Amino acid sequence: MNAKPDWSIADADELYRISGWGAGYFRLNADGNLVVSAPLRNGKTAEIAMLDLIEGMEVRGKSMPVMLRVQNLLENQIKLINESFSKAIADSNYRGKYRGVFPIKVNQQAQVIEDIVRFGKPWQHGLEAGSKAELMIALSMLSEPGPLIVCNGYKDREFVELGLGMTKLGFQVIFVIETPAELPIIVESSQAMGVRPVIGVRAKLFSRVSGRWNATSGDRSMFGLNASQLVGVIDGLKAAGMLDCLQFLHYHLGSQIPNIRDIRTGVREACRYYVELVEEGAPMRFLDLGGGLAVDYDGSRTSAIHSRNYALEEYCVDVVETIQSVLDEKGIEHPTIVTESGRSTVAYSTVLMFNILDVTGFSDASLPADIDEKASDLVHNLMESYRMLSDKTVQECFNDAVYYRDEARDGFMRGQLDLRTRSQIEQIFMVIMAEVQKIADRNPDALSEPEVLKTMLADIYYGNFSVFQSLPDAWAIDQIFPVVPLHRHLERPTRNSIIADMTCDSDGKIDRFPENGEVSRALPLHEIREGEEYYLGAFLVGAYQETLGDLHNLLGDTHVVSVYINEDGSFDFVGEVEGDSVADVLSYVEYQPNNLLAQFRQTAERAVRNGTISAGERQHLVNAFEAGLRGYTYYEQ
Ligand SMILES: *Cc1c(COP(=O)(O)O)cnc(C)c1O
Repeated sequence: MNAKPDWSIADADELYRISGWGAGYFRLNADGNLVVSAPLRNGKTAEIAMLDLIEGMEVRGKSMPVMLRVQNLLENQIKLINESFSKAIADSNYRGKYRGVFPIKVNQQAQVIEDIVRFGKPWQHGLEAGSKAELMIALSMLSEPGPLIVCNGYKDREFVELGLGMTKLGFQVIFVIETPAELPIIVESSQAMGVRPVIGVRAKLFSRVSGRWNATSGDRSMFGLNASQLVGVIDGLKAAGMLDCLQFLHYHLGSQIPNIRDIRTGVREACRYYVELVEEGAPMRFLDLGGGLAVDYDGSRTSAIHSRNYALEEYCVDVVETIQSVLDEKGIEHPTIVTESGRSTVAYSTVLMFNILDVTGFSDASLPADIDEKASDLVHNLMESYRMLSDKTVQECFNDAVYYRDEARDGFMRGQLDLRTRSQIEQIFMVIMAEVQKIADRNPDALSEPEVLKTMLADIYYGNFSVFQSLPDAWAIDQIFPVVPLHRHLERPTRNSIIADMTCDSDGKIDRFPENGEVSRALPLHEIREGEEYYLGAFLVGAYQETLGDLHNLLGDTHVVSVYINEDGSFDFVGEVEGDSVADVLSYVEYQPNNLLAQFRQTAERAVRNGTISAGERQHLVNAFEAGLRGYTYYEQ
């Protein structure tokens, strides 16, 4: 075995913080493999090594990269939020219920919505739609009345009439008014169709929250009604004789709210609106807090933006108790509490799995074999820095080395330094940096900016995936996702790395990793071994990533495989969605694969006529082209 006594599973867990972000769903087993610990319906858990799942996929012809969905985790997240609210409600003698809805925009994939509807049935977990297309999904997927269908977003007449039709069928459709312009459409259409709809209002709170999405909250938020617009809607409903339809108050402070205090402040302000609506005479029944329940991506359990300083139970208890205390003061009936948790519902269940194709090392430089007496001064100066290097001089030598390296680059630009000299200088420079790193590892205060060095020495691991397609938030908004090897955790990872993807784009990389509530610019990984695959997983990627992804470099959708882990610990591949082929992505950008093939055939045929290639060679080329069109857009073995 490769087990080294100086490295244990506990060290690996601490390094990658798996116990922190894994929420009990992911852990390392004694063999050094990363396992999914899947909650079962009988209350137990079953563990499956991710490598076993990869093996199962490869047998089924699914090569990397693969988006893995573990349905048990989604099922459990839905169960947890419903049970946690039920418990908080029972414990505090709250006299209302909880009803969850899933906001479709967070993951619109048919398989995911199907799963949510199915797993949510015991609790009548509903859906939230923010557009016409999403409403169509909600109306057809929730095939029986019961769960709430909350309609946010701009609603035109078509949208409203569809919802009203479903109300007539007994479905619990709620029309949340976001702008004053929607009111006349809802009033006129419902009168014309003879339906009494349930109407909600979206309040614009002035409470501001910390975190990345804080622009959704506060006075300048783009969404919701301000106080005077709210009065206008109340008066409009009164005038139409429809104030009895106003039963629902909604707000949404933004996604990923890391600080529980902001959640409480928001609820308290919303309760003030709720009280006022009741006093205006509206028969209020529902208070909808929107989303915001955060995911602890970095495992630090702090109020840092990628984390959260509360657990689900605390969230539920705080919400229930805050509402209760404000409304009890006024003697108002407790509403049904609605939340629209998207991120925390789906983030856990999806893992992007990919293999490493190649590595460019930066930390293995060695000194040039022979340094000429007559070599450039820069070479000698650098060698002097190297000899001077010690714990005491480390910062000075680091600064000098960077200076000489930059001088050498300038000299090369001006034509004063040749390629071989520049190469020698870069080599010596990297040797110095590696030594500096060793000193910095021993003595963390040795350097003023240790991260700079880490980035400079980080090896580039080339991953078989596209950041733009599968992890767009890592590129667009510097979202952090935990990235962890799926195996080899009995070995100490010795390389500091960043991960580049398959696009030829300098932004196509992952170079921000969680480290103790802060961001590290490099990730420790294992040395890859000849002839052996090295697999990594990017975790907590179930929310927002799939439809925000794009076709940069025409790398298409990955394969998606859903598994359900059974009570006997066996697992079923319950759904496989084939990733895009090259022909698929070409047709998305309006090429006709058949025409491309025909054109290519002609080009090859001309070459045969000119005598450049033989007819047999032509056939070979055409076959390769055809196979290419059918193939996966990612690297295939
Ligand atoms: C995006 C959104 C949500 C989902 O928020 P999460 O933080 O992902 O739970 C809920 N409600 C509304 C109105 C939204 O726009």
